[in-house]
Amino acid sequence: MARLAIQARDEASRARAGILRTAHGDVRTPAFVPLATKGTVKGLLAQEVADAGLDMVLGNTLHLLLSPGPELIERLGGLHRFMGWSGPIITDSGGFQVFSMGHGTVAEEIKGRGRPAPSHTGGSILEIAETGVRFRSYVDGGERVLTPEGSMAVQAALGSDLALAFDECTPFHVDREYTARSTERTHRWLERCRRWHERHAPAGQLLYGIVQGGVHEDLRRGSAQAVAASGCGGVAIGGSLGADKAQMYEVVSWAVDELDDGHESPPRHLLGIGEVDDLIRGVELGIDTFDCAMPTRLGRHGTALIADPKRRWRLDLSKGRWRESEEPLVEGCPCPACSTGLSRAYLSYLARAKELTGMRLLTLHNLTFVADLMSDLRLAIIAGRLAQTAAALRAGAAPGRARRSKRAGPGESHPST
Ligand SMILES: [Zn+2]
Repeated sequence: MARLAIQARDEASRARAGILRTAHGDVRTPAFVPLATKGTVKGLLAQEVADAGLDMVLGNTLHLLLSPGPELIERLGGLHRFMGWSGPIITDSGGFQVFSMGHGTVAEEIKGRGRPAPSHTGGSILEIAETGVRFRSYVDGGERVLTPEGSMAVQAALGSDLALAFDECTPFHVDREYTARSTERTHRWLERCRRWHERHAPAGQLLYGIVQGGVHEDLRRGSAQAVAASGCGGVAIGGSLGADKAQMYEVVSWAVDELDDGHESPPRHLLGIGEVDDLIRGVELGIDTFDCAMPTRLGRHGTALIADPKRRWRLDLSKGRWRESEEPLVEGCPCPACSTGLSRAYLSYLARAKELTGMRLLTLHNLTFVADLMSDLRLAIIAGRLAQTAAALRAGAAPGRARRSKRAGPGESHPST
């Protein structure tokens, strides 16, 4: 079974570096996981994702259930073979997407920059019951049901390495009573997922329970304890994490407080979070893996990630001010957009023209940026200098220099910032 081997811990925070071993290879943690929602990281070949430095991708149970269907993917050899990705895959349970239909744009409200909600394309929730959720498909308008067992069965057919239990993604605006009841039901669903998984899961697949509980300290802590006691191999933290970053960090730390941090500590995943400062803080809070639509979605819409904290690490190339800029996007970045010497003027032109090449180049750049950031944090934890590296990154240091200087050969010293 997949498990996390912790290699190093930071003394001043809860950060840890490790190797998450799965049937399809290792994930170096802490790690960012890009979305391959519909069986592809949009616009990219699997090899390009790996070349950017990413070890794992996230596939989406609800989208793949509705089209092309788990039966077809299973018949064609499982999701790895179907999408040509031989590395580890995590699949979410579909809970977030199904509940996004019912809770409308609350999903976006929760995460600010969360995963795309099917509500935008016409799906709707019909009934939330103890057995599961009845909803209308955004693909063909037909009525469908997703249950804890059904979600597990889809994820088994896809053959993912890490599977997430079916949960209700509790929205931010509901009251404490709703959150409490919903969190308890999520725990009952977890038990049903676990029982199904025990009997039918593909060999080596690791089940993650999901911590809910909204922004209420007792509910969050209670949920983390329930997931920890469930015997699941992994723990994911989901749902509403608060109205702002400070509250999000507090909510995450309540959950992590309740989790085993010893030798047998299960891997911890933070759902739907991927802003640069949130990744740095999340690592300090003891999170091992993160997924988020942000880097790839921004890339498709003309925005590049750069080392500029004042602008939230973003450079909007669709703006006219780059029209004649001869500057490269980022000096020293090894991605295909930067290393080939393309100008900001060209990338800006592609972005404004909505050319596929531009979307691909900026997606590759953004994934390289995030992979470099995670690699820097990981190397810093191992080297015992996370505090300095995190401070430098927060102050605008370009990620990736430590990794690349290591590649350059043993004679070269590590830049400390
Ligand atoms: Zn680049």
